[in-house]
Amino acid sequence: LSERTQAPRGTFDVLPDEEPAREAIVREAQRILGSAGYRRIETPIFEATELFARSVGEATDIVRKEMYTFDDGGGRSVTLRPEGTAPVCRAYVEHGMHKLAQPVKLWYLGPFFRREAPQKGRYREFFQVGAEALGSDDPAVDAELILLLADLLDAIGASARLRLSSLGTPDTRAAYRERLTAYLREHEDELSPDVRERIDLNPLRAFDASDRGTQRVMAGAPRLFDVLNDDDREHFEAVTAMLDDADLRWELDPSLVRGLDYYTRTVFEFESPDLGAQSGVGGGGRYDGLVEQLGGPPTPGCGWAAGIERMLLAAAAQPTPVDGVDLFVAFAKPHYRREAMRIANEVRQAGLHAQLELAGRSLKGQLKQADRIGARYVAILGDEGAQLKDMQSGEQHEVEVGALPAAVLRQRPGG
Ligand code: AMP
Repeated sequence: LSERTQAPRGTFDVLPDEEPAREAIVREAQRILGSAGYRRIETPIFEATELFARSVGEATDIVRKEMYTFDDGGGRSVTLRPEGTAPVCRAYVEHGMHKLAQPVKLWYLGPFFRREAPQKGRYREFFQVGAEALGSDDPAVDAELILLLADLLDAIGASARLRLSSLGTPDTRAAYRERLTAYLREHEDELSPDVRERIDLNPLRAFDASDRGTQRVMAGAPRLFDVLNDDDREHFEAVTAMLDDADLRWELDPSLVRGLDYYTRTVFEFESPDLGAQSGVGGGGRYDGLVEQLGGPPTPGCGWAAGIERMLLAAAAQPTPVDGVDLFVAFAKPHYRREAMRIANEVRQAGLHAQLELAGRSLKGQLKQADRIGARYVAILGDEGAQLKDMQSGEQHEVEVGALPAAVLRQRPGG
């Protein structure tokens, strides 16, 4: 016997029973983002590797060890997208979207790839819905984006707590980085080897470390939030004032750094207590330098991404029922198969849900199948013409074959 091939580690199949719940989340996202003027964009699943290396940051976990990178066969290095912001900014530059009315508000949905250690809520292929607003540094943009994600989580019944901070401008961050690096050097022997190794490369990430020793050191570390300049502080206060106006609860978390290099000013994360270790449901922030870094004009931007699988884990919402089957076309003899096909087609074209026997069952087996799929009516084709059976009342009467679609339509509420 040959060995069975399985789905790659950290990936999953979405089976038909699981699809309605996912679909429900996507529909809510579309409704909520659409109602705020966000329009859908799709970018390729793979991009030039340097797009991510340059924007996400050479020193980040994503770029250092989590990217699926390969040669495209023509000597070019490409990477399965690990995140959506850099591709959207690339598209903004490539299509000259700075010439449109600003901000340009976009949303996306699709698969993303990171070679992480799989666990509950953490996969190597996962789906994200994301929103980005490019071309304005108005704090209202940040606040609106945060409120939209809060609305989405609320709509699907996910309770999540919002943590918020500001990373300031690159200058503030550079000065702070030096201070933090010096502090980490003073406490070098108390840090985990991984953090120690990256003191110069990415000292901010020490705030994310999970080991006790590093956490103890970080509790006393200088905070970026405490050294923000007046403009950044004002921007942050304007954002939070609007969140307060909307009665959205938030907590300041000065240790929030997020795992990507391009963030400036506002950063935020929604966390659900139901998720265990992988508690982040969605998050994002402002990235005022990213578009320019990718070769575009100076363009501020802000956005977020939320994982579909994490939202499912955090959601109370049950899958919405699929539309019912209006008609099952059964037939007493194979001879009637073509007619059954024609009727099913006609009924579908009239906008109804119709299925026909496809597996050569006996008539008894066909009625069982109709029952199993919850068909409202069954048409039975036989030598004496067609019978229409109401599966709810059990009543059955003869119908003209040509009148079948109309008969089913008439029985429908509003038909
Ligand atoms: P990030 O870009 O890391 O902030 O991720 C944004 C959101 O995507 C997270 O809040 C999660 O909901 C989701 N996410 C990120 N990485 C994974 C993963 N490996 N598996 C499943 N969901 C993920």
